[in-house]
Amino acid sequence: MTPAARDHIWTLISFGYILSWPINGLIGFFIGRRRGLAQEAALLGAFLGPLGWLPFSFVRDRRKKCPSCGTLAQSSATHCKKCFVSFMF
Ligand SMILES: [Zn+2]
Repeated sequence: MTPAARDHIWTLISFGYILSWPINGLIGFFIGRRRGLAQEAALLGAFLGPLGWLPFSFVRDRRKKCPSCGTLAQSSATHCKKCFVSFMF
């Protein structure tokens, strides 16, 4: 392999990696959202791809479950967005 060809391959790999950021980040976002960790999973997914998504398939669900209607809310939520019951008790 000539040095020029090697450079060309590395350019393609680098561009492919950078172009995959938004897609991998978005996939991470949707995987993490189901655990209440959307931002963390999007960030890790963007940089590491499938390796970044993997841990989020195993972590505990951080979302809060409404005691009144059972709707799942983000871990930072203070009240249920469906029935407005407060999570502060
Ligand atoms: Zn509720």
